[in-house]
Amino acid sequence: MRIGFIGLGNMGAPMAANLARAGHEVAGFDTADIAVEGVRSADAIEAAVRDREAVITMLPDGPVLDAVYERIVPLMPGGALLLDCSTVDVDSAASAHRRAGQADLLSIDAPVSGGIGGATAGSLTFMVGGSEAAVERARPLLEIMGQRVVHCGEAGAGQAAKICNNLLLGVSMIGACEAFSLGEKLGLSPERLFEVISTSSGSCWSVNTYCPVPGVGPSSPADDGYAPGFAAELMLKDLCLSQRAAEQVGAATPMAARAEALYARFVEHGGRGQDFSAMLPALSAAARGDFDE
Ligand code: NAD
Repeated sequence: MRIGFIGLGNMGAPMAANLARAGHEVAGFDTADIAVEGVRSADAIEAAVRDREAVITMLPDGPVLDAVYERIVPLMPGGALLLDCSTVDVDSAASAHRRAGQADLLSIDAPVSGGIGGATAGSLTFMVGGSEAAVERARPLLEIMGQRVVHCGEAGAGQAAKICNNLLLGVSMIGACEAFSLGEKLGLSPERLFEVISTSSGSCWSVNTYCPVPGVGPSSPADDGYAPGFAAELMLKDLCLSQRAAEQVGAATPMAARAEALYARFVEHGGRGQDFSAMLPALSAAARGDFDE
């Protein structure tokens, strides 16, 4: 397939490389002028999308996605496919689908889980929103970049699922960090506490797979000085998206609201650029009352 790929950052570059490696002809564009093995670098966004059967976007946020779609949608041939894999707010996803539909293009929102490791290994999970026809057209490409494709529903359903998943992840990571911080202060060894939690009712991905304690559990960013992984500011972005979506539909999400406030404070006070599990040393160093509102 002739594919255009816009946004060759930490996630987009390995995803585009995997498509090229699988034999697709990929033209890439990034405002930061990033070269990717096997991908032809376009010197302008137009050159990366003109005459393409499919265009994939992997961009930082909704306003950038809006601006990019405004430029590329009019250039694409009727019937072509647009796949947005960025994590954006539900409104921007809806507006992207609307623009595509008006130009007679097929579109899906397909945000991912799995991080840079999953993007490199081609083992991402895609949460997909869009029509059956669009999802089936996109599926062969998604299956190269990922291991699991879940069609969550109509336009925007992928972003909705992503926001709900990361709401839970943010809350559960803070819970895991609190449990290990309290455990240490109660004199428990983190190894024994891991052994208990990971096989008990408190078990969760944040403990079993991504334990925030260095040297405990499977290898995780904690073992690498909390280099991300999944950066704290990206977790904050996703929690903000969840709160904006919750406001729109009037959903009560008090734990996520608290998690958003805690990550906002953490990012402002030294957490930027660290993995989101570095909440553990921040909590361990704090005294009771430090986080009171
Ligand atoms: P990134 O900042 O590394 O990459 C974004 C790229 O988009 C950058 O290279 C930037 O130069 C480029 N860009 C910005 N504006 C552009 C424009 N107008 N035209 C072309 N290129 C433009 O971010 P990332 O980590 O690759 O994340 C991309 C998306 O995936 C985000 O929405 C993020 O929330 C989501 N995501 C990231 C992870 C992760 O672990 N990094 C995990 C899941 C989802």
